[in-house]
Amino acid sequence: MTSLAAELEQILGPKGWLAGDDAAPYSRDWLNRYGETPLGVARPGSTEEVSQVVAACQEAGVSITPQGGNTSLCGGAVSGRSGGVILSLSRMNAIGDVDRAAGTIVVEAGTVLARLHDHVEAQDLIFPMHLGAEGSAQIGGLIGTNAGGSHALRYGMMQDLVVGMEVVLADGTVWDGLRAVQKDNAGYQLRRLFCGAEGTLGIVTRAVLKLYPAPKQKATALLALPDIQTLVDYGTYLRGDAGEFISGLEFFCDLGLDLALRHVDGMEFPLESRSPFYLLVELTTSSAMVPLDEILEGALTVGMENGQVTDGALAMSEAQRAAFWRLREEQPEGQRLEGAQLKHDISVPPGKLASFLSEGAEVCEGILPGVRINPFGHLGDGNVHYNLSPADGQTDFGDKAKEFAEELGALASRLQGSFAAEHGLGRSKIALADHLRSATERDLMVQIKAAVDPKQIMNPGVVLKG
Ligand SMILES: Cc1cc2nc3c(=O)[nH]c(=O)nc-3n(C[C@H](O)[C@H](O)[C@H](O)COP(=O)(O)OP(=O)(O)OC[C@H]3O[C@@H](n4cnc5c(N)ncnc54)[C@H](O)[C@@H]3O)c2cc1C
Repeated sequence: MTSLAAELEQILGPKGWLAGDDAAPYSRDWLNRYGETPLGVARPGSTEEVSQVVAACQEAGVSITPQGGNTSLCGGAVSGRSGGVILSLSRMNAIGDVDRAAGTIVVEAGTVLARLHDHVEAQDLIFPMHLGAEGSAQIGGLIGTNAGGSHALRYGMMQDLVVGMEVVLADGTVWDGLRAVQKDNAGYQLRRLFCGAEGTLGIVTRAVLKLYPAPKQKATALLALPDIQTLVDYGTYLRGDAGEFISGLEFFCDLGLDLALRHVDGMEFPLESRSPFYLLVELTTSSAMVPLDEILEGALTVGMENGQVTDGALAMSEAQRAAFWRLREEQPEGQRLEGAQLKHDISVPPGKLASFLSEGAEVCEGILPGVRINPFGHLGDGNVHYNLSPADGQTDFGDKAKEFAEELGALASRLQGSFAAEHGLGRSKIALADHLRSATERDLMVQIKAAVDPKQIMNPGVVLKG
């Protein structure tokens, strides 16, 4: 045992330090592409213990990677160096009392998102962050990646849902920024700096989160539309007509539907006819007075009369609503089960989505003819998961992955969008980022990193080259 391992075991006790085979379940990333063998996994039970672990690692010059639910799709939550320490927040999962007057709650970083949902929903409140990994993803990881998800259009990304936080810095110092107020302009917006920093600037240990009243009504529809421009135009109309009630505006295409129906158990398609694109619309309100069903039915009628919506169904029960959402949420799973895939997490201004899809199709066809394109995502914020499956009869993409990523990322940038919309950079997108981001942007990040973590021990090799 190294002296650092002995010291960490001494600080954390037997429950708090895992090594050898016990550390293996934490060592590889969700997609099993990254992860060197760590020295071990530290599982602190308090901010004080996190601080001691970080200080010990700093002293020993050993890297630390914070890990939440390890659902990062970019390999950010595993060690890039053999002998690095993984710091799992899982034991720090206490949920504080709801502050009803402020509409906030304080939680520890290891709190699993779905557990927080259950906790606050029992009190007629919601925490409006929803994503497919919510059964595993933790608050610290969601802050680390500045997660987006399917409700970002109405409630914002994680940075908009966190009003205060506590962070252990690279030398073990604890920054107490647990202020429970929205208005706090006392200098630089430090809490925003840690949103999306992917564990490279410090370890979030607690956060003050915003809560909202639970909806008293929900109205959900699944619609078929003939093409992407019509989908965008109809989405724009909906935002004008039902804007403040829209909590979900999600799209997927017929290839994605086909993959989900073929590969995922228990899926059913509720419409009469298939179509190139589908739109899932959900309106919610915490008022009992708003005629929500009428608003959605009226919008549907307008869409059908205009010829924009060719088919559609309104959810008549909670089970049907859940079944509609599953059609969208199982898109990644359907594609995973189809075999090899390339994922691209792009965002463009929604008005440029049609240009992105048509120019993107030309780019893809030029790189690998016949490659199958499965775009799906969040219409309201222009976030498209532009995923590829090999051409029929082929099992992989040869050596074309880098070319796809660079060309599609460059196209998104040309359209004033981003090549890294909501999943972050992790380990998998650093080369791409260095290819696409400006030198000014990269240098600013390098300077921030050097100032906050001069010894470069906080998750090196993530966000910036290690
Ligand atoms: C099926 C599926 C669906 C998904 N859907 C979405 C989606 O719709 N929207 C979306 O945005 N993402 C999505 N993701 C990606 C992923 O779930 C999110 O990035 C999520 O925020 C990661 O949370 P986590 O707890 O698993 O973090 P981890 O994977 O453990 O860590 C993510 C990053 O944050 C850092 N980190 C972890 N904990 C802390 C902490 N306490 N302090 C500082 N840094 C920390 C890690 O070092 C790492 O760099 C999806 C993933 C899957 C597998």
